[in-house]
Amino acid sequence: MKKIEHAALTESGLATRFGPNWPGRRCGAKTRQGAPCQNPAIKNRARCKLHGGRSTGPRTAEGKARVVAANTKHGRRSAAHVSRVRFINAELRRITKALKAEEYIP
Ligand SMILES: [Zn+2]
Repeated sequence: MKKIEHAALTESGLATRFGPNWPGRRCGAKTRQGAPCQNPAIKNRARCKLHGGRSTGPRTAEGKARVVAANTKHGRRSAAHVSRVRFINAELRRITKALKAEEYIP
């Protein structure tokens, strides 16, 4: 039976292992404890996955519109549709009231 060299295995992953002596880039965001975040930063970014390292959403109007379109099911509750229905109902009430005043309808 081959002897396992624990020391060599311990050394092998030292460069990529997270820990107090990990050489990679840390997040450094201020945590609720007040200490800097010790999570590894996302590649090519300054912060970790919890502190804005991942995408924080679309910036441009075009990108925001794309997200809205992707998350809209039917639009019956959208602000534009609701305001249009309110305008139509108000117009119907106004017409009905005028017709009643002129005694065209009871
Ligand atoms: Zn962080």
